[in-house]
Amino acid sequence: MKTWIPDARNFAYLNWKQVDALPRESTLLILPTAAIEQHGHHLPLATDTLINNLLLGRALEKLPPDLPVYALPPVHYGKSNEHLGFPGTLSVSASTFMAVLRDLGSSISSAGFKKLVLYNTHGGNTSLIDVMARDLRAEFGLRTFALHGSGGISFEGLKPQERAYGFHAGEVETSFLLAAVPELVDQSSYTVNYIADVAKPELLRPENAPAVFAWLTRDIASSGVLGDPRPATPEKGRGWIEEAATRLAAALETMFRYPNESAK
Ligand SMILES: [Zn+2]
Repeated sequence: MKTWIPDARNFAYLNWKQVDALPRESTLLILPTAAIEQHGHHLPLATDTLINNLLLGRALEKLPPDLPVYALPPVHYGKSNEHLGFPGTLSVSASTFMAVLRDLGSSISSAGFKKLVLYNTHGGNTSLIDVMARDLRAEFGLRTFALHGSGGISFEGLKPQERAYGFHAGEVETSFLLAAVPELVDQSSYTVNYIADVAKPELLRPENAPAVFAWLTRDIASSGVLGDPRPATPEKGRGWIEEAATRLAAALETMFRYPNESAK
């Protein structure tokens, strides 16, 4: 898999003696989690993993060089059962995903490290990341953090409809890939699908509401796209990548400086 992680920040490029020499109390390790799943007719299966790597790599470039912060190899496979039925989606169950995170947390803790970030860029993993961040804290005493997507940037320029329901393979993800790996975007194959309409809010919504329905992509979007990729441009992608990287770098630095000790 292509990587934007700077070599000097790539944990798996170290040998064990170099790992042994890292300051255990302060080193911040980042475990990326993403997915290999359908992204419509125009984006590759690895979209979420590529975006994770790209944003994290750009963020790591912005950190002061002396901070001991390292990216672990990503967990490529995520809980993607909302996208089953589309050839190429490779999903693991919630229990498998959580077991992998638990076992990695166990290894990290037994090596003496104290601080771990779960950096996730696939929506289907989000609730599991929240569960595991707390469980790793409780079981191993790891100071665990969760970091999501683009770090909460405002995505200036997005229309309200896309902002609310551009979940998957829409303007944002397509712009990211047009900026970073345009050769993997098939611009002649865009499709548009929305799961709901902001102009006609129903009581029962797909997400972010008190009353929601559990959705599967195949029920509501035969092409696999949830959103509109047509307004995507590499310029928008470059701007959002830079903004997200700045925000993620600030979050990582704050996590690095967060105290390990519990309040007395
Ligand atoms: Zn995606």
